[in-house]
Amino acid sequence: MAMYDAKLTNLCKHINPEVESNPLGITSIILSAAEKLSGSLLPLEDHLSLKRQSPHPPDVLQSVENCESTLPESFEIQAIRIPSSVNETIETLVLNLSSASYYLDVIAEALGVTEASRVQVSRTIGKASSEIRLFFCPKQQLLDQSLEPLEVHRVQLQGSLNVRASYFAGQEVYGDAILASVGYVWKSANLFHEDMSMRTYYRLLINKIPSGVYKLSREAISVAELPMAFTTRSNWRGFFPREILYTFCRQHRLAEPVFCIPNSSLGTSTDPHGTCKKLKVTEPIEEGKKSPVLAAGGGGESDGLTGDFQCEVKIFSKCQDLILQFLSTKAYKKQTDAVQNAALKVLLWLNLFFRESNISSEKLSSHAKELGIQFYSEYFLKEFNICSLVHDFWMSFATVEDGLLDRKHMKANDDMVENGVFSLNMGGQASGVNPSSGSLVCIGYTSCLVTEGGTKEHLESNEQFEFEMGIGAVVPCIEGIVTQLSVGQSACFGAELPPLEFILAAADDSPTTISLLSSGKCSLEHTITLLRVTEPLEDRMEQALFSPPLSKQRVEYALQHIQESHALSMIDFGCGSGSLLDSLLDYPTSLDKIVGVDISQKSLARAAKMLHSKLNSKLDYKVSSNRIKSAVLYDGSITNFDSRLCGFDIGTCLEVIEHMEEQEASLFGDVVLSSFCPRILIISTPNYEYNVILQKSAPQNQEEDPDEKNQSQAYKFRNHDHKFEWTRAQFCDWATDLSRRHNYSVEFSGVGGVGDVEPGFASQIAVFRRKEENPKNVEIAHHCKVIWEWSEGDRSKSAL
Ligand code: SAH
Ligand code: MG
Repeated sequence: MAMYDAKLTNLCKHINPEVESNPLGITSIILSAAEKLSGSLLPLEDHLSLKRQSPHPPDVLQSVENCESTLPESFEIQAIRIPSSVNETIETLVLNLSSASYYLDVIAEALGVTEASRVQVSRTIGKASSEIRLFFCPKQQLLDQSLEPLEVHRVQLQGSLNVRASYFAGQEVYGDAILASVGYVWKSANLFHEDMSMRTYYRLLINKIPSGVYKLSREAISVAELPMAFTTRSNWRGFFPREILYTFCRQHRLAEPVFCIPNSSLGTSTDPHGTCKKLKVTEPIEEGKKSPVLAAGGGGESDGLTGDFQCEVKIFSKCQDLILQFLSTKAYKKQTDAVQNAALKVLLWLNLFFRESNISSEKLSSHAKELGIQFYSEYFLKEFNICSLVHDFWMSFATVEDGLLDRKHMKANDDMVENGVFSLNMGGQASGVNPSSGSLVCIGYTSCLVTEGGTKEHLESNEQFEFEMGIGAVVPCIEGIVTQLSVGQSACFGAELPPLEFILAAADDSPTTISLLSSGKCSLEHTITLLRVTEPLEDRMEQALFSPPLSKQRVEYALQHIQESHALSMIDFGCGSGSLLDSLLDYPTSLDKIVGVDISQKSLARAAKMLHSKLNSKLDYKVSSNRIKSAVLYDGSITNFDSRLCGFDIGTCLEVIEHMEEQEASLFGDVVLSSFCPRILIISTPNYEYNVILQKSAPQNQEEDPDEKNQSQAYKFRNHDHKFEWTRAQFCDWATDLSRRHNYSVEFSGVGGVGDVEPGFASQIAVFRRKEENPKNVEIAHHCKVIWEWSEGDRSKSAL
């Protein structure tokens, strides 16, 4: 009872912080305090319990008797037995309770002891509201009265530490333990009880891993994945990174994470706590409710938007040892973005540790360095040592047939597509609406476990599941397939099994699943349908506000120059999924060679698919006066020199430079005009000054956070991937300087809006023309990879 009571526990923690990991110490503290109280309480010889000296007053006894119990005479509840050895599997267990007996006696019996007073009860496990506890028996030696009360837990009990139970309880548990949701709660006179299943057990287990918390928050264990990047609040689904970090720290009995926004205006402060403003953060909030608000403690004045925000995170143990810290190297426009991104970095690193239970410390350190994390391995290992024993997915299932263990080698590799996908089957008409990076997509899916013999067991399904593309918000195999689908299409494919604990956390009926898993080689089968694609904000705005859509206007603008210049060859720098190359094929031009370059393999794959079907189409291309003889797509950065990109009649680079850092954009400018030397080069980029208009009439305003809208609107870019957006003056300076240095002329225009009315065009365009007749000869150098190549001969081949 001592440990059971949160108030007593907290008081005892003040006396001795070590009771955090050894709640048995609480009993000792209370017993020694009771000894000093004479006359009312009597410690019993077992040194475990207290007794009132005088009996309870009659009215108290009366009220207990009057409490009517509505419990059935006898009933069963399901619990989980966690054997103390990790080599033994967890199993379900039925407790036969009755209104006439004491429930702890039943548990005692199941644990192999005679008396309820021998049973120790842990703190609650899992969510704050849960009533799930572990029941176990401390070993007799532990109660040896010759020991100093707080020395008790130092007794070495070889081999009987129950690692799994200890991991859940955050305290040392010895011997077999029973996990059950049963007991008396304040709210009711009746015994509270709920069944536990294997699924509940595995959900508790994965709730201790960052990616598990995220998967659970999305109710999509087999498909959701903790994303690699926090983009915008409106696109994020599931718990926010900061909430997950809070949950994680609570789950692992660490102190609350500390978030700091170093505040430059306090830079000269003599405050011993440095220049950090400690943020008061509201309690984690349930999904769907209003987003949590960050309030800056102390200061009072509103957080200026003058400076950019960086965020520092520190994780301490309960004993205030610093375990790790993160300082963002990137500054964010919004404070919340800085905080969420910082929390996410920490979570991603922690997740590595759980994903690879035997990860080497060198590997951990190098990942930490990459992410900007500093960790103190001594304290880190002290807190997390136990995790690798419990999360070793295969070890806990050592009795399961070996078939499971070589899941990596299952299925022939010949029909393997990317990301471990095999037996891919796609169906449905291509509607042409494809998701791209930054799109919000909605899929319906069903995941099943399939054995080699063809037995199928349903694992999980979701009618509508929404996520943002391109940030790793779903497992790689799903994202890889979704990029290939267009709205309305479906795909069915096989995939490798995820870790066992994820499967069992998803499975409705774990016993069946376990028997399937142990009966032979299994794989996962996903069936997905792409239901909707919502374009990134920029595209939505461009489509809603301009007619024809701005992207189409850019393409038409380029097309016009291609036609007027009678160009024979054209190269699209940063071609993306090939929208310009695609449109070109619909119009008569003099082009016989077209090339696209990009660094996004996914976009290139889509471009290749589209060009391939268009160029090989059986339609007579003479009709559209298309004379294309060759087409190539390269994977590579346009900032690197490659001799195959040189000497084109016309080059285009539409809405690309703003996706690079400014220095890179300048590097591209130099390389393209000094080495690639197209006769004409068209560069387009957003006009920052036009954003006022886009934002005023943006159809999606309500999506943004109301409390952030006013502050940040003036600072917002059109797309979260944009590294910069220039005003007309900035773009003009950049382009004019470039043209002078490389002997080109430059003219400015644009599309969307009217050029000579403020604030100018929506997309600003510079057209460079080479003054020199013949560009200098260039050295041969190849760094790009040919992704796809086509020549006229291919068409006749495929026509046969
Ligand atoms: N020009 C296309 C795509 C614009 S989106 C259109 O107008 O539809 C910007 C594209 O630039 C993305 O596809 C991105 O992958 C590409 N990109 C960004 N940095 C790049 C680089 N250094 N080299 C090549 N492509 C790059
Ligand atoms: Mg852009």
